Amino acid sequence: MIATQEKQSADRPWLDPNATPQIVIEGVSKAYGGFTAVDNVSLSIFKGEMFALVGASGCGKTTLLRMLAGFAEPSSGRILIDGVPMSGVPPYERPVNMMFQSYALFPHMSVERNVGYGISRMKMDGATRKSRIQEALEMVQLAHVATRKPHQLSGGQRQRVALARALIRRPKVLLLDEPLSALDKKLREQTQFELMDLQYKVGITFIVVTHDQDEAMALATRIAVMDHGKVLQVGTPSQIYEFPASRFVADFVGTTNLFEGTVRSCEPGLITVHCPETGCDLLVDEDGRFAPGQRVWVALRPEKIRLGKEPPSGARVNQLRGMVWELGYLGNRSTYRIKTTSGKLVTAFSQNERRTSEWAIDWSDEVFVSWDAEAAVLLES
Ligand code: ATP
Repeated sequence: MIATQEKQSADRPWLDPNATPQIVIEGVSKAYGGFTAVDNVSLSIFKGEMFALVGASGCGKTTLLRMLAGFAEPSSGRILIDGVPMSGVPPYERPVNMMFQSYALFPHMSVERNVGYGISRMKMDGATRKSRIQEALEMVQLAHVATRKPHQLSGGQRQRVALARALIRRPKVLLLDEPLSALDKKLREQTQFELMDLQYKVGITFIVVTHDQDEAMALATRIAVMDHGKVLQVGTPSQIYEFPASRFVADFVGTTNLFEGTVRSCEPGLITVHCPETGCDLLVDEDGRFAPGQRVWVALRPEKIRLGKEPPSGARVNQLRGMVWELGYLGNRSTYRIKTTSGKLVTAFSQNERRTSEWAIDWSDEVFVSWDAEAAVLLES
């Protein structure tokens, strides 16, 4: 058991409270005139992480990335990389490199010249330069198209040229601004895996900005959720998904049902919430952070819900009655919107385990909506 924990800490220093971070962002703010784009952000990022900054458009993700790269200076606070304060250090002297959203490839240059541009200002002999370019092209599996121009490449290949050009300088940290946004859905998913594979191979820290929460969930070791310049929560994808710290995070990452209520009673491991909008009390497995009378939200993920035509059984099971209001077929799963007897709409997902043209639960069916006390989380109002 101890050996396993030690292994986990070595592989994942972000889970070890004693590990030393590679990047420390300390109370960093950035103001443009009277407008605060980044507001007192503090983060610790560890070597080898694939760290994702997520949030809606305009929440300050790119501004934070630009301050790490040295394209903008913080208005207050400081950034340290490997213990060295970055204040006043120009971009080209920082151990970081940035891959831009647009890729910024030169259309008239071949793939190898585009990649070589990344080290054009570095002093080295011709043979070394050539082998560095070859190494970078092989890293992203593009050696066979080295002489082509960008317009002769697919979208995914262009993205890899930009990656090779950023990696050829051998930075300690690679900053990626929406690295997959130019690709279509299928290619994005495939490229996500390639990016993870590449990061594992080169072993450097990647900080990825994305507005796509699914992408962040698939890629990241940890995610920081931002809103209006502030970091609202930092955690592993499963911490963020299963234990959101606020309504904003619960709603932003994935789909969630939110029920507003008041704590009626607290027993160890079981809190009863009076919930007028569901017309009944809800049971939530929670610790002692809450007190009777407190206003709260019960957050429940759609895949944790069971739908059935028979009433559920069990002591710690919540149940509502309702009717199928909407039904969406998504191939691998179906999305149900159930109108409960109190009028509240509840979203539930069900996995389509078999091929069938008939629904076990169909439009207008009367159903029982149920979930275990352990399935939901309680959030402060
Ligand atoms: P997106 O996902 O749309 O790229 P973002 O989260 O990356 O958004 P930022 O580009 O960091 O957001 O911008 C944060 C806020 O700061 C925005 O309201 C933007 O208009 C503002 N901002 C960014 N750069 C400047 C600037 N140079 N001058 C004034 N305001 C700026």
